[in-house]
Amino acid sequence: MHRLYDTHAHLDFPEFANDLGDVVARARENGVEKIITVGTNLASSRHAVALAEQFPWVYAVVGWHPNDADDAPADVKSALRELAAHRKVVALGETGLDYHRLPGSHDGEASLAREQKIRKQKELFKQHLELAAELGLNVVVHQRDAFEDTLSMLRPFAGRIRAVFHCFGESPARLEQVLALGAFVSFTGIVTFKNAEVAREAVYATPLDRLMIETDCPFLAPVPYRGKRCEPAHLREIAFAVAQIKGCSIETVSNATCENAEAFFRGLSKS
Ligand SMILES: [Zn+2]
Repeated sequence: MHRLYDTHAHLDFPEFANDLGDVVARARENGVEKIITVGTNLASSRHAVALAEQFPWVYAVVGWHPNDADDAPADVKSALRELAAHRKVVALGETGLDYHRLPGSHDGEASLAREQKIRKQKELFKQHLELAAELGLNVVVHQRDAFEDTLSMLRPFAGRIRAVFHCFGESPARLEQVLALGAFVSFTGIVTFKNAEVAREAVYATPLDRLMIETDCPFLAPVPYRGKRCEPAHLREIAFAVAQIKGCSIETVSNATCENAEAFFRGLSKS
């Protein structure tokens, strides 16, 4: 069996509350040797660190998701700085910009609300980037319908920190811009979906030394589990799909994605 690392999971979500031990065991049985569980706010990030303490092969990323930006305090840096001192915290995130669910800009009132929410998301994202630069950590980036703004916020930090664009599904032209920043891209079970030709084109165009894989569980279960709860064991299906798209062996995908993860996530290679 070829080793795989699930670089983006949400093991703290309530979907796993009743059988997390079994979920983690099934991951190991399916070759998933390491799992990175990603926080979405402060409580979730604390939970992620606790899970990393509980399971030797689980690691934590701490941060505040842009979709939760409304609930974030003015300063998230101090709390995240404290959490990031933990030896099993391997990066900051997930952070970034998400304009998908914001109110539209068709009337004056909605447009003002939209602008305020965007400002809050940017402020939050900036704090993650500054803290990452301060601590020498990389960032796990979530972006949806906010590609240009995400890129322009990352650009000033490009020499100091690296980003991974998680759940990537953008066009090859946008992929070029991401790669030009020195960033990595990571693919989910979407690459197995029938209608996901764009994501598969991105897989095809991503150099093996910039590519990672993830489940983003409990969401986005790959075929043949589509629509069910996703879990880290399903990473195998994603790895096989990537190998097929790239016309290489599963061994090549295993080696490249694990090496990339070890280079990107602080301390992941030590244990
Ligand atoms: Zn996520």
